[in-house]
Amino acid sequence: MATVADRVFNFSAGPAVLPLPVLEKAQRELLALPGVGSSVLEISHRSKAFDGILERTLAGLKSLLGIGEEYEVVLLQGGASLQFSMVPMNFLAGQSGAANYVLTGTWGKGGLKEASRIGKTHIAWDGGANGYNCVPSADEIGLSESPAYVHVTSNETIQGVQWQQMPSFENVPLICDSSSDFLSRPVDISQYGMIYACAQKNAGIAGVTVAIIRRDLLARSRDDLPAMLDYRTFVEKGSRPNTPPVFAVYILGLVCEWLMNEVGGLHAISERNMAKATKVYEVIDSSSGFYKGHACPESRSIMNVTFRLPSENLEATFLENAASAGLTDLKGHRSVGGIRASIYNAMPEEGVEALCQFMDDFKCSHG
Ligand SMILES: *Cc1c(COP(=O)(O)O)cnc(C)c1O
Repeated sequence: MATVADRVFNFSAGPAVLPLPVLEKAQRELLALPGVGSSVLEISHRSKAFDGILERTLAGLKSLLGIGEEYEVVLLQGGASLQFSMVPMNFLAGQSGAANYVLTGTWGKGGLKEASRIGKTHIAWDGGANGYNCVPSADEIGLSESPAYVHVTSNETIQGVQWQQMPSFENVPLICDSSSDFLSRPVDISQYGMIYACAQKNAGIAGVTVAIIRRDLLARSRDDLPAMLDYRTFVEKGSRPNTPPVFAVYILGLVCEWLMNEVGGLHAISERNMAKATKVYEVIDSSSGFYKGHACPESRSIMNVTFRLPSENLEATFLENAASAGLTDLKGHRSVGGIRASIYNAMPEEGVEALCQFMDDFKCSHG
């Protein structure tokens, strides 16, 4: 049987590293949940045991994020990608104004593409001319006349570009794809009409998507929507209109529990994350140009650090040597190239220290 000693430092962008205590608890409970005698994989999604798991997961999310009564929290399937369609189906169809998209990278563009199949869209800002290396300042964003909503991506996973502070658009609902920085730092939920996130980047495993939706927006959904694409179905049925992804919900609950009980909440994890990212960016900045960061410094992601080396050959050698040193999955997305180190909540400080040491050594021997 594999042990902790067999584990590498895995810098995958997603599915990604999970907290060790979460894996260990899931392993302990995989033959039988305490007092149940079966694993979560084998019990009815209508059972008392799963009632408790779902309740604890939702309560954990509400407590960590300080979600108020004006918001509904629902668990969905289909990944963040299905939200690219569900958001405009529920909140754009039938509205007179256009859906406004602020494009800071690949995922935002994906959202725009799906919205344009449903209704009128408007590009409020597009960072494509600079290869999506930054977020705009508030005065660079140009909204259309009475927008249905403004959509942003809080962290562009592929480019490694993250908003440090969200702009506000007064009465226009702000809808945020937070897939790759969900639960990585405190968030003022009241700024948003809706936040959604798939779990497999920073909050758990693939299969479950969290949506936090301000109640008044739900009145916009049209009655002719298919039930499974209507947020109100999930609100009314408590995220269980059909069989939910029970194991993914269970793991999400364990991650929340880990954040609350072992880390000490989102302020604490945010400090850890900041310290880790600062270390890697310091290596880049002090490398005399050997490592070149993709994102401009004000927009650098705390979750996904993207950078290039002087040549593609060196990048290939870097990846090969890193893997031999137990530092895996550092290859950048094919659209950006280079290196991407994803250092989500569960990446331990020692993993980041090992990466920084490796980067310094690699520069000395190849610089
Ligand atoms: C990964 C990711 C997605 C897509 O998530 P799926 O669950 O694979 O559909 C969307 N947006 C962002 C920001 C992501 O990081």
